[in-house]
Amino acid sequence: MRLSLVLNLEKLSFELYKKSTQGSTFMSKRSTNLESFMEGVISHNPGEVEFHQAVREIAADIIPWLQDYPEYMEAQILERMAEPDRVISFRVCWEDDSGNIRVNRGYRIQNNNAIGPYKGGIRFHPSVNQSILKFLAFEQTFKNSLTGLPMGGGKGGANFNPKGKSETEVMRFCQSFMTELYRHIGADVDVPAGDIGVGAREIGYMFGQYKRITNHFTGVLTGKGIEYGGSEMRPEATGYGAAYFLEEMLKTKGESIDGKNVLISGSGNVATFAAEKINHRGGKVLTLSDSAGFIYDKDGIDEEKLKWVMELKNVRRGRISEYADKFSGAEYHADKRPWGVAADLAMPCATQNEILEDDAKTMLSNGIMAVSEGANMPTQIEGIHHFLASKILFAPAKAANAGGVGMSGLEMSQNSERRSWSNEELSKMLRDLMIGIHKNCNDAGIQKDGWCNYMAGSNIAGFKKVADAMMAFGVV
Ligand code: NDP
Repeated sequence: MRLSLVLNLEKLSFELYKKSTQGSTFMSKRSTNLESFMEGVISHNPGEVEFHQAVREIAADIIPWLQDYPEYMEAQILERMAEPDRVISFRVCWEDDSGNIRVNRGYRIQNNNAIGPYKGGIRFHPSVNQSILKFLAFEQTFKNSLTGLPMGGGKGGANFNPKGKSETEVMRFCQSFMTELYRHIGADVDVPAGDIGVGAREIGYMFGQYKRITNHFTGVLTGKGIEYGGSEMRPEATGYGAAYFLEEMLKTKGESIDGKNVLISGSGNVATFAAEKINHRGGKVLTLSDSAGFIYDKDGIDEEKLKWVMELKNVRRGRISEYADKFSGAEYHADKRPWGVAADLAMPCATQNEILEDDAKTMLSNGIMAVSEGANMPTQIEGIHHFLASKILFAPAKAANAGGVGMSGLEMSQNSERRSWSNEELSKMLRDLMIGIHKNCNDAGIQKDGWCNYMAGSNIAGFKKVADAMMAFGVV
């Protein structure tokens, strides 16, 4: 009697549990429809709008494609990819030069390690929050898969603003950040790199602190200085890679960069090296920007002017507005982005959501032929819809800017082998890597009318490799 009561209660609670989870489409057996899938993602990640946006962009291509692959749907692979393996958040305390104690929040999102150790940059910017880092870690999983190298997806950072901080303040912050991060990373576990606000200087401070705490000299970070295990070509890789992808897309139409006018946003690592490669290929760079505005130089930002910009940003840590004071004929537009300037090609290389729907419309009405995204998710989804509907050449970030993480993967290989490849060898590897990524995206995205939907192509090609690895592991 007592036993049967217990069994009945267990049955009842199981029925109640089933009922309670039936409302959650995220956990339902199959999410065959984009909107019901997204309802689940939104309810599980409330308020994380950038993360919702990134998942929607990928799910919109993957869900229709999954109809032909019921085994992935049955195993809920997409649902599992959209749930990070781990979200780590921690306090970062440091002392400023005036003796005040400051407190920031640090994060590391370990999204998926099905095909290799977690890999992805660290961002220091006041806008950093969990949503932005989850979007970046999710995207990174697909991007890293596209490179063909064994790297999973992760991302990290802190809401720390390096602008206006002294050298010693930046050093103390980096050391404090690593004092917690070190326990979550490792050469075979998770290998962070740079991103917005984190360049060679910050990587140096973090690597120094890691080594001091652990006494291990391993390839735990990429983007290191050449003297201590860094790779030739790493600084150039993202910008050059995005220009190579642009070049490959243009080739499919019998076109080239030579003689074209190009809009570039940003003036950091990705933007300046993208501009350098455009110059190498005979294009004319008309614009650069920072978070305060953009400069327009109708004569073109040639190699000499670009060298000045690199010195301005990397050494003097100045603002792009100074360009207009230095070079006559250049205009500075405060609080504006460059998308209203008429040009043939565009490379957004600053930050997420910098091309809004109206910007995309303006660019199209000005006759833009191709867009190659150097930054992560720089085009708002509505803008992407306009680009795709107009059937221009549109290279999404996860394909176009994968050269950076690809070169980081090669830095990891060099560290494991304890050797260094030459600049020439790595330049060729980068070029081949981008040609390979372009081919994979093109093969998966080509449409019956000959136009390539690189967005769908990159999503599908990136998804499949990770999905197959996850299938091999069973339900873990
Ligand atoms: P940097 O910090 O070197 O440069 C960032 C540039 O973007 C600066 O000019 C900065 O201006 C501008 N910027 C930052 N935030 C904003 C904003 N909210 N509005 C307008 N402009 C802004 O970063 P990276 O060049 O390394 O990164 C740029 C983009 O490329 C990011 O999306 C990053 O995730 C992506 N990326 C970078 C890779 C790399 O290898 N570095 C690899 C793959 C992707 P300001 O100085 O005023 O802040």
